[in-house]
Amino acid sequence: MSEPWRILQCVIKKSDVGSKTWERVKKITQESSVIIYGEMIANPRAPGGKEVKVREVLIQHIAVSPYPLGKKEQPPEVLMRWRHLAIRSPRFTKIWIVREYLLKLAREYFQRNEWHEVSPPILVSTACEGGATLFEVKYFDDSKAYLSQSAQLYLEVMIFSLGKVWSLTPSFRAEKSRTRRHLAEYWHLEAEAAWYRFEDNLRVQEELIEYIIRGLLENDLTRSLILEFRGDIEPLENVKAPFERITYDEAIEILQSKNFDIKWGDDIGADEEKVLSEEIEQFFFLTHFPAHLKAFYVKLDSNRPEVSLSADLLAPEGYGEIIGGSEREDDVNVLIDRIREEGFDPKDYQWYLDLRRYGSVPHSGFGLGIERLLWWILKLSHIRDTLPFPRLARVKKFI
Ligand code: ATP
Ligand code: MG
Repeated sequence: MSEPWRILQCVIKKSDVGSKTWERVKKITQESSVIIYGEMIANPRAPGGKEVKVREVLIQHIAVSPYPLGKKEQPPEVLMRWRHLAIRSPRFTKIWIVREYLLKLAREYFQRNEWHEVSPPILVSTACEGGATLFEVKYFDDSKAYLSQSAQLYLEVMIFSLGKVWSLTPSFRAEKSRTRRHLAEYWHLEAEAAWYRFEDNLRVQEELIEYIIRGLLENDLTRSLILEFRGDIEPLENVKAPFERITYDEAIEILQSKNFDIKWGDDIGADEEKVLSEEIEQFFFLTHFPAHLKAFYVKLDSNRPEVSLSADLLAPEGYGEIIGGSEREDDVNVLIDRIREEGFDPKDYQWYLDLRRYGSVPHSGFGLGIERLLWWILKLSHIRDTLPFPRLARVKKFI
C-alpha cells in the first residue's frame, strides 16, 4: 500500500538554480504545488533519511497565504470549520488508510464464507429503531419518507432470496445526545441469515471481528499505524474468539456492586457500558436484555418471555457497544403487539409482517458500526475523526 503522508525534504540553493528560478521560488507558499527536478541524496537528518538537491523548479499552483490552519495544533472547533483543509494532515491520511483496510477485510470475511452482498435502500417508508432518531425527508410533492436507520428489515426480506446476506450502507440517526460515540450519519455493516439462531449469530460476530483485527495486525503498514495511534497493540492481540459473555441480569448486579443507581429494567447506557467494558478488559457479549429495551423485531426468550434473544458486543477499554444483534421474532401476533408498544402503526409494516405470514424461517442478524470499531482500534478520543465529513448534532452547518 502506498504511504501518501511521506514527506520529502528539498533543498534549493541560489548557486544551484540561478537567480531567475530563485526569485520564482521565493513566491512559493505553504500548500503550493511544484514539479521539482534534482538529485536524491542521503541525509540522515532529513525525514526518511533522504533529500533532493534541487536543480529546477516548475511552479504549478501558488496557494493563498497565510494558510488558514497554519502549522500549530488547532482546537477541534477550528478543525471542524476548516474540515475540507484539515483532512490534508498526515494524521487523517493514516486514519483513512486503516479504515480502508478494515473495510477490505470485512468484505473479504463475508466473501470467504459465502455470504451475499446486497444493496438495500436508503430512502425508506418505516422506522425500525425508534421514532425519536428518525430523519424525515420530503418525498416528491405530497409524500414523505425517512432516511434509513438500519437496513435490517430489508435484509430480512433478502434472506428469502439468498440465505445469508450482508450490506454496508450509511445509516442515519437524529441523535440528540452529544456523546463521543454518536454520529448522525454512520456506516453500518449489517448481516442477516436464514436458519441462524441466537448462538450462530454470536459466532459470526466473533469470527468477523477476529478476522478484521488479525488482518490489520498481519499487515505491516496497518499494524505500525495502529501502534502509532494507540501506543499499545496488546488489546488487539488479545482479541480471540470465543468472546466472554455476561447476561443483562449479571451486568445489573455488577453495576449495583459499583454503586450505580440502577435496577432491573433500566437501560444500560454509555456510562454503564464504560464501567463494564473497563472491568472485563476484552470484547464481550452482553446478552438477554429485557424485551422492552430492544426494538420490536427482537425475539422473546421462550423460557423467560420478559427477556429477549438479544446481544450487544462491547469493545474493551471503556469504548462499549460496537454491535447490536438478535434472533428475530417470527410470530406475527407477537410482532404486531410489539410494533404497537413502540408507538408505530402495524399498517405501515404490512410487508414486513407478510414475511411471517407467508412462510418464514428462524433467522438472526446484527449491525456493526464501522466508526465505532475504528474508534476503538485507533483509540481515538472522539468518533468524529473516523470519517472525513462527520455529521454531528451540534454542528448544523457543514460542507
Ligand atoms: P447506542 O445505544 O450506542 O445508541 P444503538 O443500540 O442505538 O447504539 P443499534 O441500533 O443496535 O445501536 O445499531 C447497531 C450498531 O450501530 C451499534 O452497535 C453501533 O455500533 C452503531 N451505531 C448506532 N448508532 C450510532 C450512531 N449514532 N453513530 C455511530 N454508530 C452508531
Ligand atoms: Mg442509539
